[in-house]
Amino acid sequence: MAILLGSIADDYTGASDLANTLTKNGLRTVQTVGIPGPSLVLPEVDAVVVSLKIRSVAAPEAVRAATAADTWLRQRGASHVLYKICSTFDSTDAGNIGPVTEALKSGSDQMVLVTPAFPETGRTVYLGHLFVGEQPLNESPLKDHPLNPMHDANLVRVLGRQSSGTVGLVGLATVSDGPEAVKARLDTLRATGVTAAIADAIFERDLETLGTVALKTWVSTGASGLGLGLARALVRSGQVPLRTGATADAIRPVGGLAAIVAGSCSRATLQQLAIAEQSMPVLRLDPERLLAGSQEINAAISWAGDRISAGPVVIAASATPEAVCQLQSRYGRDASGHAIESATSFIAAELVARGVRRLVIAGGETSGAAVDRLGIPAFLIGPEIAPGVPVLRTIGNVQGDMLLALKSGNFGGGDFFAAALAMMH
Ligand code: ADP
Repeated sequence: MAILLGSIADDYTGASDLANTLTKNGLRTVQTVGIPGPSLVLPEVDAVVVSLKIRSVAAPEAVRAATAADTWLRQRGASHVLYKICSTFDSTDAGNIGPVTEALKSGSDQMVLVTPAFPETGRTVYLGHLFVGEQPLNESPLKDHPLNPMHDANLVRVLGRQSSGTVGLVGLATVSDGPEAVKARLDTLRATGVTAAIADAIFERDLETLGTVALKTWVSTGASGLGLGLARALVRSGQVPLRTGATADAIRPVGGLAAIVAGSCSRATLQQLAIAEQSMPVLRLDPERLLAGSQEINAAISWAGDRISAGPVVIAASATPEAVCQLQSRYGRDASGHAIESATSFIAAELVARGVRRLVIAGGETSGAAVDRLGIPAFLIGPEIAPGVPVLRTIGNVQGDMLLALKSGNFGGGDFFAAALAMMH
């Protein structure tokens, strides 16, 4: 199997989001969890998204992991690799986007196109400045992000501070003139010693132009929007026949029990939990007791055991921002976060051991921890539940076939949990 498009995603839910976009735009896509072992048999696909957990790790570690994934993808035929980052460019000045981009480029003298634009979700880039909806990045809620507060909307500067090379700009006027104009601009920039360029994009047609150019280069960096451009370029070039939607195979029923585990504390997740409470049993974990020992975990598993044969259950660590702050100030942000992730992933694994085969997980880090604990090697991408969240079917899972939905905190409407379960049989 030769892969036409490879991607390395800096987190798991971002990987699902990209894989969903590629699938919707005509590519048969698989999401792997880390670099697959030699025994994993992947189906015939056009694109592989290798999910890593490197968004918030030190740059050298991120570079090592991404380079290994790149080697794996290139060995399987990928001639272009997209480094998938968050559409809000989540990173600090000591962040990974610059170092990983440069590491993946090494050996190639081609310019790297970089854009986090994803108009479908309100992320647009104009004159190098990232907008989240109507707000510049540094005025959006991302300015208060607990791990990567974004205080500068000018991505030429942001990426420049993370890079050893010089970062340039491909402005909207050039992008609007089409692929040849973009190529000419990249040649001009390269002649002046620039190694990577932030590209403006406001509309999907801009991403189609950028995808057409990027596809002929070695590596690009961007969010799902650039994935859309690359997928459409592959279809337009005739390398992939247009296929609409996910393969029916991805949602063949798996049976078994169903559960939802939530560790996201985002506003959207809190609202989804409140709505789920009206139709399903919901257990709110006590975070203090979770941190104190295994009693709260055991009680949760036993609570679920009493109810789950009658229908789906929800177990949530999620709390309001005030409660989260309080816990973090007592135990530290990382320590409390990791302890709760460890508890929710343990609970998820115990539920699977007790027959759960349909599992919805809310929270990016929460999903990553649970998928790791379950040891799931890869996913086939199914239909979309909500923008950015597809149904996932496990590939090569030792517990047998499962259907999952991994929801990044802010994604999904109020009825997301019921909507997800309605698509997973
Ligand atoms: P999101 O996608 O919404 O950012 P994540 O799962 O990535 O969600 O992050 C949520 C973090 O909050 C996780 O580390 C999780 O363990 C932690 N967490 C969950 N519940 C609580 C709580 N009650 N108090 C403090 N931290 C919590």
